[in-house]
Amino acid sequence: MTKPLEIAFVTSADNYRTLPESPVEVAFVGRSNVGKSSLINSLANRKQLARVSKTPGRTQLINLFETPGGGTLVDLPGYGYAAVPGKIKRGWEKMIVGYLQEREELEMIFVLVDGLIGPTDLDLMMLEQLRDSNVSFTVVATKQDKVKPSKSATRRIELATACQIDAAQIIWTSVSTGLGIDQLRALVNRCLNTNPNRR
Ligand code: GDP
Repeated sequence: MTKPLEIAFVTSADNYRTLPESPVEVAFVGRSNVGKSSLINSLANRKQLARVSKTPGRTQLINLFETPGGGTLVDLPGYGYAAVPGKIKRGWEKMIVGYLQEREELEMIFVLVDGLIGPTDLDLMMLEQLRDSNVSFTVVATKQDKVKPSKSATRRIELATACQIDAAQIIWTSVSTGLGIDQLRALVNRCLNTNPNRR
């Protein structure tokens, strides 16, 4: 097993411009309820690091976590929660896009897609945005344990086709079974150790 990520909560911000500087950064993004908090907790092997909410759409702030090497893990607010008024929604979307385009230390963005539901229109817009902005991204499929074993192979191909990437590039995860957690940890560690200016 890969060692759990040693990450410590540093701060929350409602604007990416007020985030503290960091030598190298990875970010996690996805629609509300995709399983982002659960996954971050699982990477760190902690229960309550990122709040796992029963009410989708609660995470409206950017949460920043620091690793011992000085690299930063950023938990971006979940998008697409239906009950949020349009004005606030557009504010979040603008903030996420601004972050992606302007945060120079961003090494990799992990786009979480629900493995059972597949990519929503907003997920596809996010991927398009990332391609346009030339930001490196990795698609992480969540909740793999919810996919029936008989549908698993087809689902992998469907999800890859919808996201327009190679099926082998997708990291399938489940916090229930632990699938993919080691693989994701290793990639996060690799990304956070790529910057020669790190502390
Ligand atoms: P967030 O809004 O993206 O941070 O999502 P949460 O981490 O709060 O998870 C949303 C819901 O999905 C919670 O009820 C979690 O327990 C559940 N969930 C998250 N990951 C998994 C998973 O891998 N498998 C299953 N079965 N449920 C999950």
